[in-house]
Amino acid sequence: MKTGLYPGSFDPITYGHIDIVKRALNVFDKLIILISVNPNKKTLFTKEERVDLVSRALESCSDRIEIHTSETLTVKHAKALGATHIVRGLRALTDFEYEFQMTHANRVLDKSVDSVFFMTDNKYSFLSSTTVKEIAQFNGDLSTFAPPFIVSAIKKKYNH
Ligand code: ADP
Repeated sequence: MKTGLYPGSFDPITYGHIDIVKRALNVFDKLIILISVNPNKKTLFTKEERVDLVSRALESCSDRIEIHTSETLTVKHAKALGATHIVRGLRALTDFEYEFQMTHANRVLDKSVDSVFFMTDNKYSFLSSTTVKEIAQFNGDLSTFAPPFIVSAIKKKYNH
């Protein structure tokens, strides 16, 4: 059984992330979603809220995914959970530089865990959780960015 591990902040999960999950499930039998928790980084949603939103957003493929949270190195989790590959999404060229550095750093840490990259559908190639939060601050329309229950959760955070 091939297991991939998809790490990210998922603050919150968007259609862009969901698209990557679906593509990864065409290749891997099981996908572990690893929600990174960085005590030094302020997030809009708490760890528990992010787990809840991810699990609801991925309900249709719940039999093939597992959701974990992490406060440590991604490669350590991959190894411990039996994942052979780290899955990442690529949007534009701007993602490449960061992913390039991370992939090589991860290889130095553990060369038995490799990384694979998927590109989203064109319509999500500009989409990030940060963009969604910026638009939400000004009460913009988020319906094409994330499922309705996530849009409601974001709006609630901004008192809209
Ligand atoms: P972001 O705030 O950029 O959405 P995450 O840490 O949650 O950040 O992202 C986790 C992974 O998902 C990264 O590899 C990121 O490039 C990828 N990702 C996020 N949004 C998209 C998207 N719209 N298309 C492709 N990949 C994406």
